[in-house]
Amino acid sequence: MSDRTPIIAGNWKMHRDHLEAIQLVQKLAYHLQEEDYEGQEIVVCPPFVALRSIQTLIQSDKLPISLGAQNCHPEDEGAFTGEISVPMLARLDVRYVICGPSERRALFAETDELIATKARAVQKHDLRPIVCVGEVKEEREAGKALDVVVDQLRGSLQGVSADDPDALVIAYEPVWAIGTGLTATPEDAQEMCAAIRTELAGIYDASTAEAIRIQYGGSVKPGNVRQLMGQPDIDGALVGGASLSSEDFALIVGHRR
Ligand code: PEP
Repeated sequence: MSDRTPIIAGNWKMHRDHLEAIQLVQKLAYHLQEEDYEGQEIVVCPPFVALRSIQTLIQSDKLPISLGAQNCHPEDEGAFTGEISVPMLARLDVRYVICGPSERRALFAETDELIATKARAVQKHDLRPIVCVGEVKEEREAGKALDVVVDQLRGSLQGVSADDPDALVIAYEPVWAIGTGLTATPEDAQEMCAAIRTELAGIYDASTAEAIRIQYGGSVKPGNVRQLMGQPDIDGALVGGASLSSEDFALIVGHRR
């Protein structure tokens, strides 16, 4: 067992308005048991418009759940119509910001460089980036998965600090497993997460790499989470679809029971 505190995060993507979001978190809290909160971090990442409602709920009900945002703009403020800055997120008690998930890389043309800029901006305001990396199906089939992931990691972590290893989370999300029902086998996921840790030791140093948390993401469900979380280099899960069901997300969070 490592000393790393497991971190389970739900990425709701563009689902749930602010009223539905409140209900989802209330139901989640109902399904969770006290022991589920112990020794692990639970994060929900709703759409921006629901952050304020969830912040209020977390405060009023004293829920040990952290708030995450799905994106940010790297500038503190300015003429960036439609964008949201990290200081704005900080005011809402957001603790984590997802940087470079596959959809933003593929649909919004986010580069490793931009992702690193966002991650640095997140850290500048004492929030924590969850930096996502992962290969597409063709790359895996061509035997290039490791090279692709290592490349993304180096590019997306340019200038990103790991002085406090808890303040940086890596999410390995094979793109072919996201929202498809296909999951990497626990062995394949472990192999890649171990390779990511080795690379982190090169970027930072060995003891820092040992302390950084690496999540797996890609069709994580109640039925596969235990095996995935049982792998030595997998310290958490970034959950998409299954985080929209309070029952399923509670089972994922409660996988140790
Ligand atoms: C994700 O988008 O981060 C994700 C892993 O989605 P899903 O769990 O639905 O595959």
